[in-house]
Amino acid sequence: MPELIPILPEESIAAMVAAIGRKMSLDYEGRNPILIGVLKGAFVFLSDLIRQMTIPVIIDFLQTSSYGSETTSCGAIRFVKEIGVNIKDQHVVLVEDIVDTGKTLSFLIDYLQGFCPASVKVCTLIDKQERREKEIEIDYACHCLSKGFVVGYGLDFNEKYRYLPGLYHLKY
Ligand code: 5GP
Repeated sequence: MPELIPILPEESIAAMVAAIGRKMSLDYEGRNPILIGVLKGAFVFLSDLIRQMTIPVIIDFLQTSSYGSETTSCGAIRFVKEIGVNIKDQHVVLVEDIVDTGKTLSFLIDYLQGFCPASVKVCTLIDKQERREKEIEIDYACHCLSKGFVVGYGLDFNEKYRYLPGLYHLKY
């Protein structure tokens, strides 16, 4: 049986998300950014984040799937859902659940740059640095981890555990 080891309770996540929401609201004052959440993992984070922001935002979603094992992604990424709003000359923030190797993020940034936005920044719930392969600037990160497989607060393992309000290491 897999074991769930608590990393962050709901209250700590809420405080971190509120701090990021405040910072982004200051940084993007007067610029009406478009926040693009990466499905499915970022949906809880994005929905909490926008309610902590004090400026108008537009939201959209992207979904990719990668071919690999259950707990690692490999290089081949394809779209399940592409963006549905026009981002040309707009300020975009890509909202991720977790950045691991950085391959997904690097692929998505290149994709978004193809639409000629005014800017693209990155916001992630978790910055997991141990296996990073692509050098990517992360502009906003709630929490940094060195290693481990994380579930809860929208993150899954085989579609399980997304509903948990806190974050956990999954030991199996
Ligand atoms: P990357 O392309 O950066 O290696 O992988 C990013 C994606 O892999 C994340 O958006 C997430 O879907 C998945 N992933 C990477 N590490 C974890 C993890 O610890 N837990 C979960 N649930 N997904 C992860």
